[in-house]
Amino acid sequence: MSFFCGIGVCHGCVQPPLNVRACQHIPDATPAAVPRATDIVVVGAGPAGVAAAKAAVAHGASVTLIDSAPLLGGQYGRQAIDSPYVGVPGVQHLPNTVVWAIEPGRRLHLLSGPLDAPNRVASVLDAPHLILATGAYDRAIPFPGWDLLGVHTAGAAQALAKGRREAIGQRVLIAGTGPFLLPVAESLVSVGSRVLGVLEANSPTRWARGALTGLHKIPELARYAAVLAKHRIPYRTKRTVIAAHGIDRVTSVTTAKIDGAWNVVPGSEQRVEVDAVCVGFGFVPQLDLAVASGCLVYKGFVRVDSAQRTSVAGVLAAGEITGVGGADLAAAEGEIAGITAAGGRVPRAALRRVHKGRMFAEALARAHPVRPGWRSWLTPNTIICRCERVVHDTLRQAVDLRGAADSRTLKLTSRVGLGRCQGRMCGRAVAELTGIPDVVRRPIAAPVRLGELSKENRHDPGTA
Ligand SMILES: Cc1cc2nc3c(=O)[nH]c(=O)nc-3n(C[C@H](O)[C@H](O)[C@H](O)COP(=O)(O)OP(=O)(O)OC[C@H]3O[C@@H](n4cnc5c(N)ncnc54)[C@H](O)[C@@H]3O)c2cc1C
Repeated sequence: MSFFCGIGVCHGCVQPPLNVRACQHIPDATPAAVPRATDIVVVGAGPAGVAAAKAAVAHGASVTLIDSAPLLGGQYGRQAIDSPYVGVPGVQHLPNTVVWAIEPGRRLHLLSGPLDAPNRVASVLDAPHLILATGAYDRAIPFPGWDLLGVHTAGAAQALAKGRREAIGQRVLIAGTGPFLLPVAESLVSVGSRVLGVLEANSPTRWARGALTGLHKIPELARYAAVLAKHRIPYRTKRTVIAAHGIDRVTSVTTAKIDGAWNVVPGSEQRVEVDAVCVGFGFVPQLDLAVASGCLVYKGFVRVDSAQRTSVAGVLAAGEITGVGGADLAAAEGEIAGITAAGGRVPRAALRRVHKGRMFAEALARAHPVRPGWRSWLTPNTIICRCERVVHDTLRQAVDLRGAADSRTLKLTSRVGLGRCQGRMCGRAVAELTGIPDVVRRPIAAPVRLGELSKENRHDPGTA
């Protein structure tokens, strides 16, 4: 049976409190012992973090690899039993361990053990070199009815299908933007769902400008095209889901043709009966620890140099927190970060892989933007902040009538972003709706109980 981990944002699957019940955390009754000190600490065991750990060990360093999930592989690799990312010899792997805070000077605060267990072990670990590889999570945008049972993020639907062989529904519609919608369709049909269609809000012709950068992805795209053809799944562009309907759970959706700005083309609306919907509008980087470390963030991502060094001495970053470009790019960046942190010389081949991956990432971002017209799909009663159930009209009043002009005042007047996920889910949408920038400053990166803090085991690096 699937279960929802019960906290606002699960760092294993990074699913905010949608009704997804998709958490992949496997309860493990044995909390980890106090970690020993190592040369390098890597946070995040996805493609970037695992590659970083492997490269650093190969260059003679000792490494601690921390992840809140029980298995290696991150969002891309963890679900697959034959994951290419399993087993990193010579590494102190701390699974089921969340880094909930970082102090200046690279002092990490950890909580080890199952998320809901009363006996999680709190400890402190100093990182001589720190590699942040915390990845990204699904971006969802609000629309009327998106809070109904049966509306899932595409990543959550895929996690259930790949990880637990569970289908989120029998008649499923997939909507959003980006190539990630295609593996989601493949995963859903593999567990017996009937996928009624994949609705891509943008147009693939935008890829023309970045065609060369995506050549290496053609075999993968051909495989997805074959899956769509075999299962007669229509792939429709410039169309999306603008509303979900139902009482207890979704029973139908309204889809509509949208123009280049994502405004609804009048008269193009269609009602489709479904028992589940997946929505995915790209990814949002998981920046909390990078911001807490003082790293410079530029255009929404951690800024790094060609050796993956951030603006803070001793702190490196790799993978989707530096830009969204897929697992290969994340792994290439991780390798460079690991070699740099271990004091090695970065091979040119790795730099070339990163360069190629970043060109692809830029083409991806150009071809699949989120356009402002989504705001016109909302009604005054559409929920924007799911945790605190703040509706669109409340936000509007906070700005227009109560004069909220900064993020703090907006939160205090409307309660937006004050719930369990702390604005991770709605932050971007709120910023676009109000014009008030989303300030990603969450010194506490994961929920923590006060009782757990009182038992924090402080590790003295000098006695390692
Ligand atoms: C839900 C989802 C599904 C995806 N599925 C596919 C797919 O099928 N095919 C594909 O090509 N690409 C997929 N992608 C994109 C792919 O995951 C990425 O390209 C790739 O995984 C990025 O690697 P990464 O190492 O940067 O981050 P991730 O793989 O996201 O790994 C980051 C890791 O950091 C850990 N972490 C984060 N914060 C903390 C913390 N505070 N403490 C401890 N651990 C922490 C997380 O648990 C996670 O394991 C998916 C992305 C998402 C979000």
